[in-house]
Amino acid sequence: MNVLITGGAGFIGSHLADALLQRGDSVSVLDNLSTGAAENIQNILGHSRFSFVQAALDDAAALDKLAGHADVIVHLAAAVGVQLILEHPTRTIETNVLGTHALLSAARRFGCHTLIASTSEVYGKSRSLPFSEGDDLILGPPNTTRWVYAATKLLDEFLALAAHQEFGLPLTVLRFFNVVGPRQTGRFGMVLPRLVRQALRGQPVTVYGDGNQTRCFCHVADAVQALVGLLGRKTASGQIYNIGSNQEVTIRELAEQIVDRADSASPIHYLPYGQAYAAGFEDLRRRVPDISKIADEIGWKPTHLLPKILDDMIDFERDRLT
Ligand code: UDP
Repeated sequence: MNVLITGGAGFIGSHLADALLQRGDSVSVLDNLSTGAAENIQNILGHSRFSFVQAALDDAAALDKLAGHADVIVHLAAAVGVQLILEHPTRTIETNVLGTHALLSAARRFGCHTLIASTSEVYGKSRSLPFSEGDDLILGPPNTTRWVYAATKLLDEFLALAAHQEFGLPLTVLRFFNVVGPRQTGRFGMVLPRLVRQALRGQPVTVYGDGNQTRCFCHVADAVQALVGLLGRKTASGQIYNIGSNQEVTIRELAEQIVDRADSASPIHYLPYGQAYAAGFEDLRRRVPDISKIADEIGWKPTHLLPKILDDMIDFERDRLT
């Protein structure tokens, strides 16, 4: 299969590229290296079935050339990370909405089955746990910048499903829940790489709020298996799937486990939200996915438990520090 990955030099995209090359597919990557990094694809740059184009999604010529050779497209290019979004809301909206619009236009021209990455953020403040794909979505008001990301990805979902309904474009929407693992950058606020680096450097490990908020962390290797399973799958067309773990952990327990597994002497510092984020930031207390729909479709469920996830990230970050 010829697979085009937008955002393929990013965290999830580069792991997907590795897995597809390993199973014999040809992979091309379009990435502007804004949040992705050349070092993520360093190991595959010389591969005979791999090609890389450094361009943004508004480069219609580059996009058309790659889409024209692709059987399937995995659209992962996006502005991500709470911090980046709070600092650059306009750029976030433009990248996510106009980028996906451009991508879908190219996919329509060539009829490629397309996987569209979305996010658990679209469930917003919903309290009906676990979150299921058919649930109502409860976002905050537009003058709270936190909701920019959810709103843009939700609009991406609408754009994608409209292209499916109106023009018969085969596509599938994926809502990722806190995917973590080696190569994830902590630059834009993601908790796990940040805390692991703090613990390895002996710095205070920063837990925001009281630390009783929960998340479910999914190893990137599991997320990649879900993507591979849905690639080009006709029965998944027009559908939305949650991809994540349902092993819930408080951020306080997470910090304690990181300090313990990293053999670190770092203290845990509890930082009020007002100091961690801009005023008016709303954190989510709990987030848990219902993953029965993807289990029914392709038999997928996550296989990596939290201790293994933490050890993989600690090993990766330790190597980078030395
Ligand atoms: N968080 C934290 N310390 C940090 C970064 C994040 O305690 O240094 C918290 C954050 O407030 C949230 C959770 O960790 O409750 C997950 O944050 P992240 O930005 O990784 O993802 P999201 O909020 O999108 O789930």
